[in-house]
Amino acid sequence: MGSFKKDFTTEDDKNIKNNEDEPLNGPAGFASSKEEGNGTEGRQDSFDNPVRPTCFDEYIGQTKLKENLLIFINASKKRSSVLGHHDLDHLLFFGPPGLGKTTLANVISHELGVNIKITSGPSIEKAGDIAALLSSASNGDIVFIDEIHRLPKPAAEMLYPAMEDFKLDIIIGEGATAKSIRISLPRFTLIGATTRAGLIPSPLRDRFGFSSRLEYYETGDLAKIVIRSAFLYGIKIDNEAAFEIARRSRGTPRIANRLLRRLRDYMFHLKRDAVNFDVAKFGIENLGIDELGLDNNDKLFLRTIIDKFGGGPVGIETIAQAINDEKDTLEDVVEPYLVSCGFILRTKQGRIATELAYKHFGLKKEDFLF
Ligand code: ADP
Repeated sequence: MGSFKKDFTTEDDKNIKNNEDEPLNGPAGFASSKEEGNGTEGRQDSFDNPVRPTCFDEYIGQTKLKENLLIFINASKKRSSVLGHHDLDHLLFFGPPGLGKTTLANVISHELGVNIKITSGPSIEKAGDIAALLSSASNGDIVFIDEIHRLPKPAAEMLYPAMEDFKLDIIIGEGATAKSIRISLPRFTLIGATTRAGLIPSPLRDRFGFSSRLEYYETGDLAKIVIRSAFLYGIKIDNEAAFEIARRSRGTPRIANRLLRRLRDYMFHLKRDAVNFDVAKFGIENLGIDELGLDNNDKLFLRTIIDKFGGGPVGIETIAQAINDEKDTLEDVVEPYLVSCGFILRTKQGRIATELAYKHFGLKKEDFLF
């Protein structure tokens, strides 16, 4: 069993999101488990990423989801007086990157006062890694698997009995001497996060007790996030600028926080002592972000469909080749927001730019008919 022991909050795991959540002070970091002990302290995460919320009071927006989670958490905490630990069911969060899935997992562990073990689908190579991860947990621990749709098949299959019965069947040895042993696991709660719920095998999806999509944030909620982050980063900002950032951030907290940090750079460049509307306007224009928050990548994607493929339908692989980008990035990061704006349709024949997309660029569809 000793060989199963492996630290699942490895540097690789920590680095998963660093490029987007680049910390302002301290070493790079993504998330970490709480220190052993009273279960309510040692959150290195808030040091590495000072703006990541640690409790529900700090987690802005996603109101219905928060309300449901609080009900489940409180009920499972009540039951813990009999069981000795909470029995929160496994949870699955899905939606585009940067909307707060990882943050929610951290918040839930904090609210329950338990440790969180963090890993991601691509860093699990084999079924044995799942065995090591789960057997090193304690009763009540949260196990968070980001990008769970990218788990290798044998690893995902090992999760089925683990999630349902908290048991693992392990084969020891090879050939004639091989024997199967059944080990009992601690009562863990798995939280899965994915940008592609459709790619999760249905036996795995079915074993989550609750699944929820995270929605794009409304401008008012994003502005609150920007004001809170500005305070924590020590940046002076006025309301008008906070709303301007919120409007241009594709409904996504990670993008809002990143834009805030870039505007802080423009503030220094312009020799101002606060991010005000003028600084915001100057920076946003320099970054090529338009009034709906579309950046140069989004615009290139849309204009390629319009200019090179007559508005579509055109396959995603063809678009990826034309703009020299990764198909997965386009599908996970670029497309969901363009779909939510009503700018593209995803059809069986391929992607189609809508009338709205043409209008956004001041164009008329009929001018492009070949
Ligand atoms: P995901 O896991 O969905 O890709 P994260 O949970 O890593 O997204 O969130 C990205 C960043 O956005 C976090 O570091 C946090 O600072 C910020 N964030 C996300 N959701 C919220 C929220 N509801 N309130 C405040 N900040 C948030």
